Amino acid sequence: MKFQNNKPKIIAWELTRKCSLACKHCRAFTNSTLNTQSSELPIEKCFDIIDQIKSYEEEATLILTGGDPLLRNEIFEIGLLIDKDVIKKIKASGIQLVSMSLDGSSAFTHDEFRGIQGAFHKTLETVKLCIDNGIEIQLNTTLTRSNKDEIGQIIKLGENLKIKSHHIFIIVPVGKARKLQHEDLLPAEYEAILSSIGYAMINSPVRIRPICAPYFMRIMKQKFKNFELKRFSKGCIAGISYCFISYDGIVSPCGYFEINCGDLKIDDFKNIWENSEVFKKLRERKLYKGKCGKCEFLNLCGGCRARALAKTGDFLSEDPICSYVHTP
Ligand code: SF4
Ligand code: SF4
Repeated sequence: MKFQNNKPKIIAWELTRKCSLACKHCRAFTNSTLNTQSSELPIEKCFDIIDQIKSYEEEATLILTGGDPLLRNEIFEIGLLIDKDVIKKIKASGIQLVSMSLDGSSAFTHDEFRGIQGAFHKTLETVKLCIDNGIEIQLNTTLTRSNKDEIGQIIKLGENLKIKSHHIFIIVPVGKARKLQHEDLLPAEYEAILSSIGYAMINSPVRIRPICAPYFMRIMKQKFKNFELKRFSKGCIAGISYCFISYDGIVSPCGYFEINCGDLKIDDFKNIWENSEVFKKLRERKLYKGKCGKCEFLNLCGGCRARALAKTGDFLSEDPICSYVHTP
């Protein structure tokens, strides 16, 4: 299968790498004192990039991310410091949904992971403040060995808080997470937990979705034959309908994909999207190797290309955490 003439549907833009937390799994080596301001794109360039994207694909969704995007000066001109004044600005700027991280069902697990005491209670307070003021919330949870037994409780906590959506991220071993190999689960453990998330998802009022576990599509297809898969798009969409822009204007297929595919300081978005060799290869499933290349679920799933790159140096090789082997 070849994805042709696809335009980007979702673009994540890392506006800054500054962040007040110190999370152990961060792909971006963020911290509060990091001085990346000199290499952050100037505001005029940001507006120019927005214009380029808008004229190429008006329907594309732009996700402003970081670091903590609220630490970027001019954030409200472009588009866990939220208080009542910030909420007013968020509403006035037209931002529809705010996402926050929650990695434990208790202060003990969450604060340990985030590296800041009190982060758990501050997060819950902020979620309630946003929801009470009509701002929708997405919670992001990174699944690790330390919190794997709490996943059900974390999902319940989100439901009780009346959040809109809950993304459960599977660790990709890049950035600081390279040192978190001990937190990684075995393929069989991922298989079991993703299946249980599938059951929770079907019965939950919250839109729960595992992220960067494209083979979740295969699990759902195998276990829940009548389940509507359309709302989950097509497994990994990196480089196919999604890409990432770093704080200094480098474009890559996703934030975990450590290859520079073009520089928006000197090139334009459309040219990078259409002509990057990496992007072109990602759109040709027949180039995929190993058991992904032979898998009957390849078009549905695609495997995680960033994880393949991080583990083997070849982004076309098989996803190392999938336990499925196609038997002809
Ligand atoms: S390559 Fe992996 S980390 Fe990147 S978007 Fe796809 S599944 Fe997620
Ligand atoms: S083998 Fe690859 S393509 Fe098949 S389900 Fe696993 S990750 Fe997806």
